[in-house]
Amino acid sequence: MDIQVIGVLGLPLIQQGDDLPALICDRVAFEDGDILVVASSVYSKAKGFTRNLAGITPGADAVRIAAKTKEDPRFVQAVLDSSTEILLEYPFILSELPSGHIGVRAGVDHSNIEDGRLIILPPDPMGAAAEVRDAVRRITGKDVRVIITDTCGRSFRRGQTGIAIGWAGMTAINDYRGDTDLFGHVLEITEEAVVDEVAAFANFVMGESHQGVPAVVFRNCRTWKGHDMVYFTPEQDVVRAALKENKKD
Ligand code: GDP
Ligand code: MN
Ligand code: MN
Repeated sequence: MDIQVIGVLGLPLIQQGDDLPALICDRVAFEDGDILVVASSVYSKAKGFTRNLAGITPGADAVRIAAKTKEDPRFVQAVLDSSTEILLEYPFILSELPSGHIGVRAGVDHSNIEDGRLIILPPDPMGAAAEVRDAVRRITGKDVRVIITDTCGRSFRRGQTGIAIGWAGMTAINDYRGDTDLFGHVLEITEEAVVDEVAAFANFVMGESHQGVPAVVFRNCRTWKGHDMVYFTPEQDVVRAALKENKKD
């Protein structure tokens, strides 16, 4: 259990069209089984999932919400454009994305990009993780696992942490149901969201500002069995149901 955590140093400012996996492979000697964690911000920049504020015309909803949140209506429009359902408008927009991820301001960022430009989350983060994994295999011959992260706020607690929005080569959840504890009790409900745990520590290594470390490699992590059903269905999600109920008032 000697896990190694390697921040990938020396990556340039990423531009649209950059071959991000190649740039990472130039800087890391991958081994089979490594977990490569990539910040969604740099994946999006490489793929051109960015927008110019000046090119966005806000619609009526964006103007209405922006008056409440005191944000640029064009920024709000970008958030709406990234969202499939708005769960909360104020004090911040909380919305669902096509991937099933629910996040504040749909994960639209104006940090770590030039003034007047926005980074939006990759629309298919699972596909993004699979693509990076395939590229690393093609370049190095190594079979790595990949997680795409974003920094997110949490319900009930202050402070943001990294979470996984896409993954490949592993299941999101380590399903302990049916396993026995130290005393022989059969575990009935424990499902560990391993991809989020790894994402959170990767985020710690990345930092949030000018550190310039958008990729982190974990070596010697064990494997696990489980499933990918990270997102509650609307029927299972009691918090979402409560928000909906509240919206009606
Ligand atoms: P997010 O959590 O995916 O929204 O990404 P952040 O904006 O918080 O950035 C995570 C890490 O990546 C930080 O260390 C940033 O300094 C770094 N980072 C962001 N963009 C770039 C880039 O274009 N090049 C490099 N080298 N680092 C970047
Ligand atoms: Mn972000
Ligand atoms: Mn971040």
